[in-house]
Formats: sequence, structure tokens, C-alpha cells
Amino acid sequence: MTLVFKNVPAQVCDNCGEAYVDEQVSGQILSAAEEAARYGVQVDIREFIATPAWAIKNISEVT
Ligand SMILES: [Zn+2]
Repeated sequence: MTLVFKNVPAQVCDNCGEAYVDEQVSGQILSAAEEAARYGVQVDIREFIATPAWAIKNISEVT
């Protein structure tokens, strides 16, 4: 499966200039990838849309 996210918000390290994504963003990408795998997606290109805080709260209450 190839899952491409565009416009992922990245932080840039002040020391070495390396770009990285924070835990919430990487977690959201991971769960999107797991969902896509369940639906049999082979190739998908999508724009990253941050999950609002209230939705994260709802998700954690459901699970
Ligand atoms: Zn660094």
C-alpha cells in the first residue's frame, strides 16, 4: 500500500534543522494508514487535515 499525505505539519529542530512530526500527527497518520489497509486501499494521495481536539477526545471515549 502506498499512502501519501500532503501538507503534513512538520516541526524543524532548532539545533540540526531536521524536520519531524509530533506524536499526535504521526498517530493520526498511522491510524489513517491502518484504516486504509482495512479497506484494501493500494494507492492513495490525500491532504493532511488535522483532527480537531474535540474529535480526538470523542475517539478516545469510544475506544
Ligand atoms: Zn535536532
